[in-house]
Amino acid sequence: MSECLFCKIARKEIPSALVYEDEQLLVFKDIFPQAPVHLLIIPKAHCGGLSDQTPEIAAATARIPQLAAKLAADHGLQDSGWRLVSNCGPDAGQVVFHLHFHLLGGRPLGGKVCL
Ligand code: AMP
Ligand code: ZN
Repeated sequence: MSECLFCKIARKEIPSALVYEDEQLLVFKDIFPQAPVHLLIIPKAHCGGLSDQTPEIAAATARIPQLAAKLAADHGLQDSGWRLVSNCGPDAGQVVFHLHFHLLGGRPLGGKVCL
C-alpha cells in the first residue's frame, strides 16, 4: 500500500472534504485554501506528477479540464473566471508528489501564473 498522502485520501484512509469522485478521478477541497474556491483534482491511481504519466494516467488526466469547467460552473465561477494549475517538480514548488491540479477562483487571481 502506498504511503502517499493523496493515495491515502483516495482510499479514504485520511478524511477530506470530498467534492466529486468517479472511477478515475477524485476532487476535494484544499486544506489551506488560497482562494474562496480551491479544489484539488487528482487521478485516484498514483502518479508522481505531470512528468510521470503513464498512458493510463494520461487518459484520466485528459478529462480534467472538462471536469474543472463543470466544477467551476457548479461553484459559480463561470463568469468571474478561474484557474487550473499543476505544479511539477521543485522549481514549481510541488509539495505533494501525487499528480494534482489546483482549481482556484472566487477572487482576482492576479496576472501571474502562480498560486
Ligand atoms: P503543491 O504545492 O502543488 O504540491 O500543492 C499541494 C497542496 O496540497 C497544497 O495546496 C496543500 O494545501 C494541499 N494539501 C496538503 N495536505 C492536504 C490534505 N490533507 N487535504 C487537502 N489538501 C491538502
Ligand atoms: Zn499517491
